Amino acid sequence: MNVAVPSEISAVASASFTLHGSGVGGGIAIGHAHLFSAARLEVSHYEIRPEEIENEVRRFDDAVSQVRSELTGLQAGLPPSAPAEMKAFLNLHAMLLNDANLSTVPRDLIRSRRCNAEWALVQQMDYLVLQFEEVDDPYLRERKQDIVQVVERVLKAMLGTGHAPAASVREEGVIVVAHDLSPADMMLFKQRKFAGFITDLGGVTSHTAIVARSLNIPAIVGLHHARSMIREGELLIVDGRAGVLIVNPGAQVLEEYRRRATRIESERRKLRRLRTTRARTLDGVAVDLQANIELPQDVDEVKEAGATGIGLFRTEFLFLNRDDLPCEDEQFEAYRKVARSMGNRPVTIRTLDLGADKSINGADRAGPNPALGLRAIRFCLAEPQMFLTQLRAILRASRYGRIRLLVPMLAHAHEVENALAAVRQAKETLDDERIQFDRRIAIGGMIEVPAAALSLRYFMRKLDFLSIGTNDLIQYTLAIDRTDDAVAHLYDPLHPAVLHLVAQTIGLANRARTPVAVCGEMAGDLSMTRLLLGFGLRQFSMHPAQLLAIKQRILGTSVAEIRAQAARISHTHDPDKARQLLSRLNA
Ligand code: PEP
Ligand code: MG
Repeated sequence: MNVAVPSEISAVASASFTLHGSGVGGGIAIGHAHLFSAARLEVSHYEIRPEEIENEVRRFDDAVSQVRSELTGLQAGLPPSAPAEMKAFLNLHAMLLNDANLSTVPRDLIRSRRCNAEWALVQQMDYLVLQFEEVDDPYLRERKQDIVQVVERVLKAMLGTGHAPAASVREEGVIVVAHDLSPADMMLFKQRKFAGFITDLGGVTSHTAIVARSLNIPAIVGLHHARSMIREGELLIVDGRAGVLIVNPGAQVLEEYRRRATRIESERRKLRRLRTTRARTLDGVAVDLQANIELPQDVDEVKEAGATGIGLFRTEFLFLNRDDLPCEDEQFEAYRKVARSMGNRPVTIRTLDLGADKSINGADRAGPNPALGLRAIRFCLAEPQMFLTQLRAILRASRYGRIRLLVPMLAHAHEVENALAAVRQAKETLDDERIQFDRRIAIGGMIEVPAAALSLRYFMRKLDFLSIGTNDLIQYTLAIDRTDDAVAHLYDPLHPAVLHLVAQTIGLANRARTPVAVCGEMAGDLSMTRLLLGFGLRQFSMHPAQLLAIKQRILGTSVAEIRAQAARISHTHDPDKARQLLSRLNA
């Protein structure tokens, strides 16, 4: 929860209206709208004067040369372990850039039609994309994406900025308004301080929403038409708890929300007192509260929240927003940094979960149905060199702390076997080079595909620990794309099938004495804390911002009193009944 109330805010005369979406980050933000879109959409269209033509052509040529050398640099810097697709893709981009269609025709358009360089380039891109769309060969048809990517690179070179919005003098009071944001876009926002985010698209457990939550600022997704209804600079109130957006609020409404924002801030301050308190229920049951991170620098917040470890390090975020792949040494440094700074507290490093809504620049191999495609462990096993590089980096870092290795999206026995074989191979290569590592490093698996939850005994036999990824477990159980706001209303953590799988996984793992955690968003959802405790969960991993509120709830709960109620909820087949029982449990 975060509160940002710029002091200079004054009510504006424009009409006030309210939009509803799904609240992502708690708290209330009050600030001015900054409309965000990808570089391509931000291109300005204007006519230039005849005497400006040569200058404009030069500007275009300079940008093309800049991108040409960027691509050459990237090609030269590719590590030998880089997948073949990466090389092919860079070659293709260099070829497209050098083709007269992209490097010469826009110059002619600048001259003949006197349009600015960006406009000329986008016109030519639209023309080429249309041509590609008419091609029968599906492979060639898809190459239009490469044209767009090359053009975006040149546009960026001309604009002189990356994807992030241009710096604003009043960022603290700025609310980013976007049609959609990718997890990679959100990572760029990590470097800056904004008051809040709102998007038209997106579900509450999309990775975009997860990163928004990790920024610890109010955010709303799934607002549908916000981007087209809001104008730059309009005054906005983002209520990230209720999922309510108020545009151009009146003076009274503004006053009321300022009061609420202050109240939330003071609740937050009070919670900080629990930082060093041990998480124990009223009847003395100890609970482990760990944190989820995306980047090494998130560790400060983890410590600030008093987490007992890192239950999920989503390493794929190290791979986003860049045109190369982090090499073994770079990854090693990142993992070592986290391991060292957590001291003897466990650090659970999840191997790459690329694919679906997170892909490496340009190397999109997710296929027609990304969530069901070549994602996570499937992707890693298809790219053994990339996987080996990461495993070696993790193993090398394991001597510097208490690292555990976690494999995402396992469904098949052979995936477990192959992942374990890859770890063995990584260990052997390190042994050959006499590099030390923690030989007894624990290897766990994420339970996030129903198939894994339903064949849990196999996974428990092979793995040292389990972590339930409820975000994906819900997505795959209910066949709902977690990034698609058109089906966001069907994304239901209380669906009997979901509760059954979660309760059963925790119960079976406890009986087999296999450590089990929940690291999906459910772990940081206050309304689910008692239910999960009642199911027998003793290890939660969540975003650090949620940790103290969850701890407070645990401190006020007696497991003995809620166990039977939780069991009733997991056995009911009526979701409304489950909701009723849950609100009684939380009363
Ligand atoms: C999950 O699926 O619940 C999970 C924790 O992994 P991610 O959100 O990164 O897919
Ligand atoms: Mg997942």
